[in-house]
Amino acid sequence: MNSIERADMAVIGTWRDDIRVNQDEVKNFVAAKGRKYVIDNVITRCPTKALSLNDDDSLAVDNRNCVRCMHCINVMTKALSAGKEKGVTILMGGKRTLKIGDLMGTVIVPFMRLETAEDFQRLKEIAENTVEFFAENALEHERTGEMIERIGLVNFLEGIGLEVDPNMVAEPRQCSYVRMDQWDEEAQKWFERQAAQKAAG
Ligand code: SF4
Repeated sequence: MNSIERADMAVIGTWRDDIRVNQDEVKNFVAAKGRKYVIDNVITRCPTKALSLNDDDSLAVDNRNCVRCMHCINVMTKALSAGKEKGVTILMGGKRTLKIGDLMGTVIVPFMRLETAEDFQRLKEIAENTVEFFAENALEHERTGEMIERIGLVNFLEGIGLEVDPNMVAEPRQCSYVRMDQWDEEAQKWFERQAAQKAAG
């Protein structure tokens, strides 16, 4: 959490497949703690309402709506664990007050693996490109988040050599107004990149 709110570049571990659930351990947990405890401390505390306790005390997880906050996994340590397809999400621009008010980091890479030497090299490249772009374009005393606000996210992404991704939504679930200009073109590019990634294995 701190890195989203403070770091110019935050690299946060995550997974992209489903949460692993051991239903026997879920039932043991419910038996030991009681349904009220589980509902009050796990089910209703999921920020996106992705959890539901079934009548037979098993747990249903709506993985498409899970935002990987880790709360349920931290509470039900035996019953739940993160998915197997692990990697990182990269955000940029988090900061406390300076020129403008506090800013949360913006997702610039929704998911990338961090396993091979090439993966780490790619991470280093993103950081180096950003430092170079920042050195050339930032104003005095400006932080990365302020620069992104001033020049716009699209220009920033272009400057550091990253493609726009439809998953980059500044405030998901909060704003009912979405700008759709060039949406189809960007979506088409995204599908092409996905197909190329799949073909490359
Ligand atoms: S990890 Fe967080 S968002 Fe996902 S199901 Fe658990 S509590 Fe909900």
